[in-house]
Amino acid sequence: MTPMLTVDERIDSFTRGTRSWPHPDTFRATPSSLAEAGFYWKPFSSSPDNVVCFLCGKSLDGWTEDDDPFEEHLSHSRNCCWAIVKSIYPVEDGLPFHWDDEENLPRGERMTKARLQTFGKWWPHERTKGWFGTTKRMANAGFIYAPTDDSDDNVQCPYCETALDGWEIEDDPVHEHQRRRPNCPFFATRAAAPTKASAAKAAKQKRKPQDVNGEESESDSNLTTHSTGRTKPETKKSAKSSRSQKSAASESASSRSSNATASQ
Ligand SMILES: [Zn+2]
Ligand SMILES: [Zn+2]
Repeated sequence: MTPMLTVDERIDSFTRGTRSWPHPDTFRATPSSLAEAGFYWKPFSSSPDNVVCFLCGKSLDGWTEDDDPFEEHLSHSRNCCWAIVKSIYPVEDGLPFHWDDEENLPRGERMTKARLQTFGKWWPHERTKGWFGTTKRMANAGFIYAPTDDSDDNVQCPYCETALDGWEIEDDPVHEHQRRRPNCPFFATRAAAPTKASAAKAAKQKRKPQDVNGEESESDSNLTTHSTGRTKPETKKSAKSSRSQKSAASESASSRSSNATASQ
């Protein structure tokens, strides 16, 4: 496997050797959040807080307390698929969810392509004859590739954080995703970017999520749903919602002036 492909490996990079991550837990850039955002630690004597993205290779250092690893990643590496899929969240909660920009819609071309790119050449079932859950179908169903130390076919929805592994030949990723989390923002998305007023109104109405394939929920699968290992979902969730608030206040990752330095 490619080095640092799993979140666990990236977290471990922060505890190797005698040195430790130089910033306190009050920073948004913790080993956990950095690993989730795709980074592993690669310190230099001149740059003790340097981190590197496992996918695009971007190096970032000079972290300050308020720097958000997800936002910094995207602002310094606009085309990294990991930065893209991990940075885009609804600006309004409630059904249907709202995005600030049409290109950020979960089922739009840009996001679908980015999810597909996370699978790279690593999906273990891609060449199995007759296998339904190809990388393309996984990406179209909202999943990114998120292998763990124990599971090379683990996928994750970046919106509801559902993680699934143990795929079998006939498993349909849309069905497996939707029957577990019918209210996931991936399914319950408005087709166009709303105005603030219409967003607030629609959020009040609480419309039902769309039924994308008309299938009924069943419990006929051996797939395993599980948490994403050693990450801290509660920490991440709060980071997410504060990112959403920032977006709502028209302060997107792209326009935000950054304190982290691109050293590549
Ligand atoms: Zn990257
Ligand atoms: Zn989901």
